[in-house]
Amino acid sequence: MTALTLHDFPGGLSLPPNKAQQTAQPISTLALPDRVWVPLLQHRGKLSRPCVKRGDKVGLGSVIGLADGAFSANVHATIAGTVGRIESRVIAHRSGLSAPCVEILADREQAQDFAAPLDTDFRLVDPNILRQRVADAGIVGLGGASFPTALKLTAEADQSLHTLVLNGAECAPYISCDEMLMRERAGDIMRGAQSMLHILQINRCMIALEEDKVLAIDAMQQALEDLSDSRFTLCLVHAKYPEGGERQLIQVLSGKEIPSDGLPVDIGYLCHNVGTAAAVFDLFATGRPLTSRIVTVCGDGVAQPQNVIAPFGTSIQSLLDHAGGLLPGSHRLIVGGPMMGFTVDSTDVPIDKGCNCILVMPEENARQLNDTMPCIRCGECETVCPASLLPQQLYYHARSSHLERLPDFHLFDCIECGCCDYVCPSNLPLTQYFRYAKDELWFRSQQQARSNQARERYEQREQRLLRQQQERDAARAERQQATRDAKQKQSDILAAVARAKARKKGDSS
Ligand code: SF4
Ligand code: SF4
Repeated sequence: MTALTLHDFPGGLSLPPNKAQQTAQPISTLALPDRVWVPLLQHRGKLSRPCVKRGDKVGLGSVIGLADGAFSANVHATIAGTVGRIESRVIAHRSGLSAPCVEILADREQAQDFAAPLDTDFRLVDPNILRQRVADAGIVGLGGASFPTALKLTAEADQSLHTLVLNGAECAPYISCDEMLMRERAGDIMRGAQSMLHILQINRCMIALEEDKVLAIDAMQQALEDLSDSRFTLCLVHAKYPEGGERQLIQVLSGKEIPSDGLPVDIGYLCHNVGTAAAVFDLFATGRPLTSRIVTVCGDGVAQPQNVIAPFGTSIQSLLDHAGGLLPGSHRLIVGGPMMGFTVDSTDVPIDKGCNCILVMPEENARQLNDTMPCIRCGECETVCPASLLPQQLYYHARSSHLERLPDFHLFDCIECGCCDYVCPSNLPLTQYFRYAKDELWFRSQQQARSNQARERYEQREQRLLRQQQERDAARAERQQATRDAKQKQSDILAAVARAKARKKGDSS
């Protein structure tokens, strides 16, 4: 393994990993569900447009939703069957958002509708063609952010890009889907990353995983030896939360901080999750679009914690049943990890491309809003913030509705990691305030943009009306002038005729 100097990022926490139970057995596969409700919003960006109707027959992998622009993603049938209702349902989103979902009732025979696998060495294929195939397959980042992968793979155009970072640093407690993927499919991850390097036209890949993931390290090292590709470097990073955050990880690997309003590519790096690389491998090897993912089902309220491969659109209840059901007692259901996840009220919510973990906690572990006390200005939140922010200041302005002040305190640099909540002795739900403030500011900026557009349209209309009026006035004045000129001409002619007649009369008398 290549020796590498690692760096650090500010703040962060050492958290108990809590992963032993769910990594004690191999990844399992969910039995075919009777039905799925596939959300048409499973990615960052615009909602996909449905392209099927009730009664249509679909195969596993048929397109059922078309991307609406580059900042969107195709959605595919995740089981073969018959399309049922298409209706708005609550999806796994922190806002409790509803979105259109396509119901598919399962067929006994699961017919596949995949694109043809790549029939030649990917290195012989034009990167643009491969990128388009990634877009067609609806692949999005599987680390949780769900950003369309094809869009991220266009960074090749930027000549400053030099390094692909494969993110296997799964630092949040409980979540272990990436660790299990690396343990069981290390070779596929590497081959997927090789095709990403070809698409990006670069020759360097750093694979980051945490030094305490011994079995995953062994598997990745073995795959690296089998592949014998000198462009890859395995980088073992310290287990520190939130090391798996894109900005923090790149800072650890490069020693460089990504500018506040910039992107990793601004300093030459591009980060993809290991699960995304495996999905790209599946696509080129088998033609399979993105229809399922590994979900960690875990927590003290789950009978048999484990990692499960499940088709998108499966209900959380199906995953819980597969994991032996819930243990007695009241429970709190969280989608995502304990630090960045969000609570959902129902198990009848479909899982989607961004859903990496279903965590069930005893109710007593839940932070109660009425347990909170005033901020005592201890500064603990500031010391753990990986983005070097002042959470207590952000909290003050978010709470007192001085939202317009928040961008001055770099609210949008907050990665919502929850470190500040974790250490706050006053039990303040700081991150919830920051999420609310971001959503509110975004909403206001949209409203402002809409009102600016309306004002511009009004001003343009006023100017157009004024211009039309001026043109009408000018035309009228022109017509009046022409009439006057014609009258003048007529009277000149009549006068000339009169003068001629008078002259004639004078001559003849
Ligand atoms: S940790 Fe909590 S109490 Fe301490 S300064 Fe931050 S917000 Fe205030
Ligand atoms: S949630 Fe935001 S403010 Fe709080 S520690 Fe994380 S990055 Fe800093």
